[in-house]
Amino acid sequence: MTTSSPGAPRQRSPISQLLHPIRRQLALAAVLAFTGSALTLAPLAGIAHIAAAILADAPVDEVWPTVVASVACMFAGMALVSAGELAAHLADNRLTHRLRLDIARRLARVPLGWFSQRGSGDVKQAMQDDIATLHGLTAHFYTSVARAAGAILAAAIYLFALDWRLAIAALLPFPGFLLFLRHAMRAGGAGMGEFMTWAGRLNHATVEFASGMPLIKAFGASGRAHGAYRDAVDGFAAAFIAFTRPLVAAMAHAHALIAPVTVLGVVLASGALFAALGWVAPLDILPFALVAPGICAPMLLLHTLLHDLGSASAAAQRVQALLATPVLAQPSPGCGRLPAGHRVVFDQVSHAHDGQQALVEVSLALEPGTVTAIVGPSGAGKSTLARLLLRFFDPDSGRVTLGGVDLREIDSAQLYRRVGFVMQDVRLVHASIRDNIALGRPGASAEEIEDAARAANIHGRILALPRGYDSVVGEDARLSGGEQQRVSIARAILLDPHILVLDEATAAADADNEAAIQDALSRFARGRTVLVIAHRLHSVVHADRIVVLDAGTIVEQGRHQDLLARDSRYARMWRLDQLADTPVAQGAPC
Ligand code: ADP
Repeated sequence: MTTSSPGAPRQRSPISQLLHPIRRQLALAAVLAFTGSALTLAPLAGIAHIAAAILADAPVDEVWPTVVASVACMFAGMALVSAGELAAHLADNRLTHRLRLDIARRLARVPLGWFSQRGSGDVKQAMQDDIATLHGLTAHFYTSVARAAGAILAAAIYLFALDWRLAIAALLPFPGFLLFLRHAMRAGGAGMGEFMTWAGRLNHATVEFASGMPLIKAFGASGRAHGAYRDAVDGFAAAFIAFTRPLVAAMAHAHALIAPVTVLGVVLASGALFAALGWVAPLDILPFALVAPGICAPMLLLHTLLHDLGSASAAAQRVQALLATPVLAQPSPGCGRLPAGHRVVFDQVSHAHDGQQALVEVSLALEPGTVTAIVGPSGAGKSTLARLLLRFFDPDSGRVTLGGVDLREIDSAQLYRRVGFVMQDVRLVHASIRDNIALGRPGASAEEIEDAARAANIHGRILALPRGYDSVVGEDARLSGGEQQRVSIARAILLDPHILVLDEATAAADADNEAAIQDALSRFARGRTVLVIAHRLHSVVHADRIVVLDAGTIVEQGRHQDLLARDSRYARMWRLDQLADTPVAQGAPC
């Protein structure tokens, strides 16, 4: 069991940690809203006072000050409430601006591997949706709670000051509301687990149903796939009814209790009784009849706001988690070491993904100016090895060095100036083709950009676009997978790195594109240190060294001919590859 020492600082909730920088503005906004809301109730008390004066045949002169004071309170209250709203919105703007920049700064420092484990949807959720949810909290929650609390408190004090017995009677429905609400929460909580389980199942079934549609159409399994989806829909509907039926009944009772007409009924009934008992004069009931029903709306608002607090808290937690994402270790500014040369060494490198070992004590050197090809079955650890050189993540043990310096001691900018890459999943940004090629060197001249595009065999295709190099990706530049890959090769060529990592570079290409890509790559690779991952063995026969990986370890290495002569693992893979490439006999009957 853990006990907190009396002097230990209390752990703040995610919301209060996040709102800490704007807590003073929020407190000011809440005080303004609280005071303003209490003042706006004054006209109701004023009406009761004026009515009493008129019924008592008081001279008009006695009525005017109340009218003026009521109107003044109303306008002052409205002005204070508006000032509170303004203060809260300004604070919210400051916070969301700061959070967005902080998240962007943080994401710029997290390892690239972090992004391959997460969908961009998760990041968008925290950067966009969760920050929008927080807007509800910062800009509206505190001022609304303060307004509701101001109205309720001012009304209660006023009524108690008039007559405590009638005040207790008039306010009785409100604790009743809270009791029913608690009952409703308990009733809802019982079916909540089942409801959430079915909501998850429906979610899953919907995704399966939509993503499997091409297969369903092609193989005609629509009945079965549709059946699974329908079962999930039916199950969800039944769980929804079981969850909401007791909840709705209890909520209906709670809301009926604090309907203005119920409160008015209670005031009039108890007022009539008290008047009959001689405790109050009939006229004394009027302020209660006017003010007590006015508490209903703020009370309901409070309930809704507290309900929203749950989603705001979850959003704050996700934003906090994103802000706490571990960043890639970097040398302190000015302390980074510069590599002496371009020899790459993987020294006893091991790495596991989520506890699953991907590489086990791999040692390998990439000599400057040579091509090293990594081959092996799927899941052997080829991409993991390549990504370690790009610092998508760091090895769990061992080290990767460039020019004798551990990658962790090299500043990222220096590393990526020396190591370029063309990856399987090409990402072009929503910008012109020119800007996409010059992404890593924004200062490159038009001539340099076009030279890079020529070397990547994509110049002609770019010129054929409606606005040539100024065509914008996703607007008037619609490129095939292979063409996008060539743009990404042009991007790498422009950076002119000494070391090049190619990961399944021709995966997205058709036959024509593949030839164009291979041609571009072999010209680009000349004279550089290249680490290439390939499934197609025929593209690596000329490599200076072929490394065969299996289950995270190097099982064989050497030149193509030497490996074939050994007639072991690589030779078997080569025979299978040749078999797969043999064209099927022509003219066979359909
Ligand atoms: P290859 O490139 O040879 O197909 P990888 O290096 O991609 O192999 O993967 C090696 C092993 O590590 C596989 O078992 C794979 O499932 C696992 N793995 C790779 N990347 C991740 C990741 N981001 N998260 C979890 N496991 C991963």
